[in-house]
Amino acid sequence: MRTIKVFKFGGASVKDAPAIENLHSILRLYPDDSLVVVISAMGKTTNFLEKVLKAYYHEPDKVESLVTELQRQHEQVAIALLPDPGAILDRLHKLFGQLREELAVEHSNNYDYDYDRIVSFGEMLSTTLISGYLNVAGIENTWLDARRLIRTDDTYREGHVDWDVTIKQIQDVVDNNPARVFLTQGFIGGTAENLTTTLGREGSDYSAAIVAYALEAESLTIWKDVPGLLNADPKRFPDAIKLDEIPYEEAVELSYYGASIIHPKTLKPLQNKQIPLFVKSFFQPEEPGSVITTCSLDNPIPSIIVKDHQTLLTVFPRDFSFIAVDNLSELFAVFAKYRIRVNMMQNSALSFSVCTDAEPARLKQCVESLQGKYKVKYNEDVELVTVRHYNQETIDKLMSGRKVILRQTSRATIQFVLLS
Ligand code: ASP
Ligand code: MG
Repeated sequence: MRTIKVFKFGGASVKDAPAIENLHSILRLYPDDSLVVVISAMGKTTNFLEKVLKAYYHEPDKVESLVTELQRQHEQVAIALLPDPGAILDRLHKLFGQLREELAVEHSNNYDYDYDRIVSFGEMLSTTLISGYLNVAGIENTWLDARRLIRTDDTYREGHVDWDVTIKQIQDVVDNNPARVFLTQGFIGGTAENLTTTLGREGSDYSAAIVAYALEAESLTIWKDVPGLLNADPKRFPDAIKLDEIPYEEAVELSYYGASIIHPKTLKPLQNKQIPLFVKSFFQPEEPGSVITTCSLDNPIPSIIVKDHQTLLTVFPRDFSFIAVDNLSELFAVFAKYRIRVNMMQNSALSFSVCTDAEPARLKQCVESLQGKYKVKYNEDVELVTVRHYNQETIDKLMSGRKVILRQTSRATIQFVLLS
């Protein structure tokens, strides 16, 4: 197999024409490498398509004007990038035709299925546009359809990868095509029946890791609008520090607790094949950024992860039984059924609490199904703060003036639920 580098560019790094020109200049720094470039939808396109989907369900009159707006946005980028954008505009036009066809059929009442069918267009549009532009701008590339590479089951909006088929499909395509640069979509996959699926919001990192795994890539680089992996979100904590080298296990913990820089599923496949993950700034591509790899964590500094808009759900068995294995297994079955993501949990003899960022609709269904056997209380819009490698100084700073409603401590990690 060839030695391949996998690159991933997220929405922010392809949000407009200057960003895409910047992507071009980054690729030019690697003239001799075989590359697979995984790209997200441009800017806020995924959010916008979610709006289109809502309109499709609830306000069909609004669909066409939204689609027209999205089309104009994409066309303007193509026009800004190329003096003669005709061929790309034709391809975009065709995709928008397909999108309109999808929206012309009655919705299926399976929201998640319709979501993947519609929202996946974001990545189809961005990669079609960028691939076409790069071909004209001197970086010849082969566009690949990720729906034929990444095979998933039909868990819409969170497709589970069929690794055997996926690995084979990716290897077959890359081994049998001499192209130096391949370009494909993040976030999307396809079922055995050729239906489109997605891997969950922000899933493009995961797509890139799947590709890297299948090709036993030399490395994966995620190009971002930050200098690397930081110990806190710089928008909230301006004095955030860059972490230069992070062991896989530590990065898994950080992303598990919600450090939004890397999609949590991304790291395991990479670790399994010992593929280093670089997180680099697309503004300063020559800087080293951060690397997640096999290394030791000496003198760790505290890392802070804040998740807001959380709901703290507390249940009390109505029959005065204690919280024990029986009702825990029942509770978890209900959480799994409604896909309630548990970000923190705690129990006492008579109550069980979870902190979750589940969608209101799913949460409501979950509460309804629990209410027979349990008294259910919940606090909405609370904040979950996690500190890895905490020290007293960090805790004092974070908690000062705040009301803590739940606290949990282990050797390396402390978590608080705070009223906002
Ligand atoms: N475009 C998708 C999203 O915004 C996937 C990604 O960007 O990673 O969630
Ligand atoms: Mg994104």
